[in-house]
Amino acid sequence: MTSADWGSIYKKMGAKPVINATGSVTLLGGSTPVAEVKAAMDAADSAYIPLIELEQVAGDQIAEMLGVPAAYITSGAGSALTLATAAFMAGADDDKIQQLPDTTGMPNEILIQKRQRYWYDRCLELAGAKLVEYGDENGTTEDDLRNAISDKTAAVHQVIYEQKPTDPNVLTLEQVIDITHAAGKPVSVDAAGQIYPLENFGKYVKMGADFQCIAAKYMGAPHSTGFALGTKEVIDAIGRHSFVGYEGRRIRGVGRPHKIDRQEIMGVVAAVRRWMTLNHEDRLSSAEAQSQSILKPLVGLPGVTAELNTNIKGHQPFGVFVSVDPDVVGFTNEDLVTKLRDGEPSIWTRVSLDAPVLEIHVFGLGDGQAELVGNAIADAVTG
Ligand SMILES: *Cc1c(COP(=O)(O)O)cnc(C)c1O
Repeated sequence: MTSADWGSIYKKMGAKPVINATGSVTLLGGSTPVAEVKAAMDAADSAYIPLIELEQVAGDQIAEMLGVPAAYITSGAGSALTLATAAFMAGADDDKIQQLPDTTGMPNEILIQKRQRYWYDRCLELAGAKLVEYGDENGTTEDDLRNAISDKTAAVHQVIYEQKPTDPNVLTLEQVIDITHAAGKPVSVDAAGQIYPLENFGKYVKMGADFQCIAAKYMGAPHSTGFALGTKEVIDAIGRHSFVGYEGRRIRGVGRPHKIDRQEIMGVVAAVRRWMTLNHEDRLSSAEAQSQSILKPLVGLPGVTAELNTNIKGHQPFGVFVSVDPDVVGFTNEDLVTKLRDGEPSIWTRVSLDAPVLEIHVFGLGDGQAELVGNAIADAVTG
């Protein structure tokens, strides 16, 4: 059951709160800051502080906790991607920083493997860069990359999803780093969700990438935050393109709309500290128990296939895969999503982007909501 005041602040305004069984998705608000983060954000209210310095000190703390050269807190992993491309194109040159998104006279191509095109790659173009594909839909060879790199190359980008099966037809990050560095160009990595196992958290920079992003939305920080990890050179340049320089240095960089507040900066530091010291066994067993609660009322129902998602890598462990047989229950998986959304309370799920099943995650579920979700699916099928 949900408590009496569940969502009341929204209801009073005439907006309809929903139960989030989809997981960490921005369209539903994505995540809820944990207690340690809220406490740090409250404490941050007590004084003002020059943000150029705060960003520096906070970045240093995160870099030290993760054992990487440097870090920079941004308004989301998407912002880190955009600022990194700005850094790759214009570096620390203030004239060029103020010229972007006009990239005349700068290397402005971000290379990406055709098979690695993904939803957030648009963030790589927002500072004026152009995405240029290499390889084709069947795969990529090392020569494809060697031939694609030119004077116009600003960086070579790779996206990492260690929670998904490895694509054998793309170049590995190791190959990309070797070839790109041999050509004297930097490597950019989107590792937004790679925060567990802990040895993966910051791993790609340790492997030699010049930059990687992390989405702090996945670790109990405000949903609007993220950070860049990287070499001192790239992180220093990111800081120069950032909104803090627009005000503090009177240099009008493209980072100005990517604003975060001092409370969020302190919230991210607290979230990283918590994550590094958290009992992850407890976190995982709690997610598994919630997933089992969803599963329980579904086991053995005619026309329903329901199984535990056993993945623990990345940002949202466990969950449940559910699929209905239209010949038995009379409706499709898409219909089930609609029925749950139209129910009371409204439960949001989605058909997986990877397979024709509902991929349910417990990341966004509050107390008692796992049982509610399982029962609602059982009712939709038997009712
Ligand atoms: C969520 C996500 C992003 C965007 O991060 P924001 O913090 O929402 O800007 C980028 N890349 C990947 C792989 C993500 O999962």
